[in-house]
Amino acid sequence: PPTSFQTTNPATEVDLRSYAVDDEATVESTLETAAAQFDSWSDRPITERESLLEGVATVLRDGKAEYAELITDEVGKPIDQARSEVEKCAWVCEYYAERAGEYLQDDRLGAVPGTKTYVTYEPLGPVLAIMPWNYPFWQVFRFAAPHLTAGNVGVLKHAPNTMGCAQAITSIFREAGYPDGVFSSLQIPDDRVANVIRDDRIAAVTLTGSTRAGRAVAAESGEALKKTVLELGGSDPFVVLDDAPIETVAERAASARTLNAGQSCISAKRIVVHDGIADEFLSAFTREMKSLTVGDPADEATDIGPLARADLLEQLDEQVQASVEAGATIVTGGEPLSRTGYFYPPTVLTGVPDGCPAAEEELFGPVATVTSVPDEETAVSVANDSQYGLGASVWTGDTDRGENLVSKIEAGNVFVNQIVQSDPRLPFGGIKQSGYGSELSDHGIREFTNPKTVWVE
Ligand code: NDP
Repeated sequence: PPTSFQTTNPATEVDLRSYAVDDEATVESTLETAAAQFDSWSDRPITERESLLEGVATVLRDGKAEYAELITDEVGKPIDQARSEVEKCAWVCEYYAERAGEYLQDDRLGAVPGTKTYVTYEPLGPVLAIMPWNYPFWQVFRFAAPHLTAGNVGVLKHAPNTMGCAQAITSIFREAGYPDGVFSSLQIPDDRVANVIRDDRIAAVTLTGSTRAGRAVAAESGEALKKTVLELGGSDPFVVLDDAPIETVAERAASARTLNAGQSCISAKRIVVHDGIADEFLSAFTREMKSLTVGDPADEATDIGPLARADLLEQLDEQVQASVEAGATIVTGGEPLSRTGYFYPPTVLTGVPDGCPAAEEELFGPVATVTSVPDEETAVSVANDSQYGLGASVWTGDTDRGENLVSKIEAGNVFVNQIVQSDPRLPFGGIKQSGYGSELSDHGIREFTNPKTVWVE
C-alpha cells in the first residue's frame, strides 16, 4: 500500500507536496483523543462553542488570500471563486455562531397535561466526515460549523488530492483556540475507512461525494447501525419555459454549468428547453459557453480552470465520447484541450439518446446537454428522468407558472429563476440516488443530535 499521498497542481501538472499516510497507531491516537475530548466539549455551555466558532470566521478572513491560493493550487479553482469559497466558510461560521443555541433550544411540549415534557437536543459524539475535493474548504466547514457547535467532535477524512487543505483546516481550528481532538483529520486511503466507521468511538458518519462512495459508506454504517447523512451526486435539470427571457437565462445557464469547471453536485447539467424557443436559446447558450475564458486558474480573468485530476479528465472524456458514439451531437467543445494541465473546454451536446452516459450519469465537468421538449408536461418528465434528485431550476417570465411546477419535480431543492445554490439559511439535501439527510439551517444542525424526549411527572 502507498505510504504517502501526493498532491499535484492540475493546471501545471507539477507535484506540490506529499503527505505521509497515517499508520494504525496514529489513527488510534486520533480516535482516542477525539473520544476523550467529547465529554468536556459537549459539557461546555453552547455560548462558549459559539464564541469559538466566531473566532474561526476571523481566522478564515485573515488568511483568505493564503487559503484561496492553496485551494487554487490543489484543485485548479479560479482564484476569485476560491476566495468566494473561503468567504462562504466564514459566513457559515458566523451564521451558526449566532444561531446554534437558538436552533438547539429545548422544544417545550404541552402534549401531556399535568406534566413537564420536552425534547432536548444532545450531541452524539465523534462524527466521521468523509469529504471530496471539489469544494475542499466549504464541504468541511458546512459540516464542522453546525455539528461541532452542537457539541459533537469531528474527524475528517479528506480526499487525497486535497491533503494540504485538510491540514490547513485543522490548523485553523487550532489557531481559533479549539482544544485538541474537537476537530482532527485522518490521512488514510478509502480502504481503511470501514475500520473507522466500525470503531465504537465513532458515533455517526457523513459523506459528500459520488453515489458509488455513498453506497459503500452507507453499507458499512448500516452494518454498524450508525446514523448517516449522505450528500451525493446530482444531474440537475435546468428547465427553460417558453416565456423565459432568453439572453439572460442563457447567460445564467452557462454560469450554472461551468462554475468550478462544472465540478459541482448542483451544477445545471441537463438543460431542458421549450421547443418554441429552443433554437434561439441554443445559439445564445452556445455563444455564452464559447465566450468563457479557459486557462490559468491563478489568473483573475479566468472563468474555467482545469479539472482537478487527470483521472477525472479521462473519465469525462470517455463519457462524452461514449455519448457521441451513441448518437449525441457536439455543438461546441467535446475533447480535452491539448495543452499542459487537465483542461476541458465548455461543451454543449444535443440529441442525447436515452441510456448513454450524458443522459444517465453525472458529468463532472463543463459539459451541458440541451434537450428540447414540446410542453411543460414533457419538460417535467425529462427533468425527472434521472437516477438523481438533488437540485432543479425552472426559468420563466411568470413566477406563478414556475412555482406550479415545483411539486411535480423530484428533487431536494427547486429554485425558480435562480441558480441552485447552497445557503447557510436554507436546508440542503437530495432524494433518490443523490442521498438523504439535511445540511445547513436549523434542519442541518439537528441531524447529528439525539432529540431526547423528557417526561417529568
Ligand atoms: P469519491 O466520491 O470517490 O470521493 C469523495 C470522498 O469519498 C473522498 O474522500 C474519497 O476518498 C471517499 N471515498 C470514496 N470511496 C470510498 C469508500 N468506499 N469508503 C470510504 N470513503 C470513500 O469521488 P471521486 O473523487 O472519485 O470523483 C468521482 C466522481 O464522483 C466525480 O466525477 C463526480 O461525478 C462524483 N463526485 C461528486 C461530488 C459531489 O459533490 N456531488 C464530489 C466529488 C465527486 P478516496 O479519494 O480516498 O477514495
